[in-house]
Amino acid sequence: MTWPPLLRLKEALGPGAELVVVGGAVRDELLARPHADWDLATRLMPQAVMDRARAAGLKVIPTGLQHGTVTVILEDRPVEVTTFRSDGAYLDGRHPESVRLGVDLTEDLARRDFTINAMALPVEGGDLIDPFGGRADLAARTIRAVGDPLLRFGEDGLRPLRACRFAAQLGFEVEGKTLEAIPKCLEVSRKVAVERVFTELDKLLRGLDPGRGMRLLAESGLMDLWLAELIPMIGCGQNRHHRYDVWTHTLEVLRFAPAEPGLRWAALLHDAGKPGTRTVGPDGEAHFYDHESKSLDLAASILERLKASHALRKEVLALIRHHGVHPTPEWKDAACRRLLRRLAEDGLPLERWAAFRLADQRGKGLDEGARVEEHGRVMVRLEALAAAAPPLSVRDLALDGAALMALAGRGGGPWLGELQKRLLELVLDAPDLNTAERLSEIVKEWLKQRD
Ligand code: ATP
Ligand code: MG
Repeated sequence: MTWPPLLRLKEALGPGAELVVVGGAVRDELLARPHADWDLATRLMPQAVMDRARAAGLKVIPTGLQHGTVTVILEDRPVEVTTFRSDGAYLDGRHPESVRLGVDLTEDLARRDFTINAMALPVEGGDLIDPFGGRADLAARTIRAVGDPLLRFGEDGLRPLRACRFAAQLGFEVEGKTLEAIPKCLEVSRKVAVERVFTELDKLLRGLDPGRGMRLLAESGLMDLWLAELIPMIGCGQNRHHRYDVWTHTLEVLRFAPAEPGLRWAALLHDAGKPGTRTVGPDGEAHFYDHESKSLDLAASILERLKASHALRKEVLALIRHHGVHPTPEWKDAACRRLLRRLAEDGLPLERWAAFRLADQRGKGLDEGARVEEHGRVMVRLEALAAAAPPLSVRDLALDGAALMALAGRGGGPWLGELQKRLLELVLDAPDLNTAERLSEIVKEWLKQRD
């Protein structure tokens, strides 16, 4: 059931190495879920792993010798091999003060966070090594701390967030005592480095059931630590176009959005500005004045604080900026092309915009069938217009800057940008005009008028 090239490593390390697959790979193999990497553990000391693997002609990188970790390249894939180890005292709520190498496998498994992550599988096959009942918890779809959750969360404040992440990723429940320990350890969780928090939040959002993860964060108090701005969404009522309050709608949009980072983060943050802009009109309806710009501000500051990548921030902000646009059959083609232009200016592909818009529409919980159908019609039209590859930016004009300068007999200057903008508006209304001859005629006419 494991990966055949691992046997080659096992042979290289020799008898007595006790080479086992550990952690996420075991869990995911048992769940028949794809996994990105194989993590291995061995009784051998890191130097011996390096020497023996090299002697067998394998490429080896000493990644983290002080933690007992060596990376071996097997068929171009990096595989981490870590010496069985136990962790010393955790004094800072983040990292053990020391690690002890050369313990036995059970002790190595005991330092791991959850029972489903604390199993080992011999590389050559054979019985699962499962001292903490991980297999039963997998079957019961349960996230349970190894040992006393209060102690384990007190050691490393990231673990409570990981519990929520695995619940979301796998659609599992968090076991009662494990869940109860989370609010009691918030002060430890507060100390965790933001990069580790972001990684876990990102995995949570990309999971099978991100709404479950977010609900757990909200209920356990973890949301106060890292996403406090989102709390006012809970219970914030909306108007008759919505069935749900802002928070429930957000969780629904998360459910319908494809599991990609940009779309899921946008789903989480797209209405963050609503609570702060809510007023109730004389008709008793809720109104949200310009909530998109408030949502953009909040999303930008949250993603910056979490040190999200520039590319992710850019995509999320573009999705939020354009999510409230709802083309109707009455829209003229030119208006649709102007929407395509705005998306292009923000580097947002039409299909990403569409995927998010559809999730947002479905997440309203009203007339879903009709909304999906209407969305389909909108997309047929936009895709047909986009397929004609209309000019959407000044770069697409049939006359470039040099040609325009030659026509006008002038060097570059602000006038040129103004002229290009004017021409672009013209061809957005009438793309047929975008030929060198027609544009030359038009420009000459304008120049004549000016003189
Ligand atoms: P993923 O599929 O996201 O990689 P994973 O279970 O492999 O999930 P990793 O973060 O790669 O998670 O960690 C590998 C293993 O190391 C885990 O399965 C777990 O046994 C152990 N581990 C990771 N982080 C912690 C932690 N903070 N505390 C205790 N054990 C941990
Ligand atoms: Mg892993």
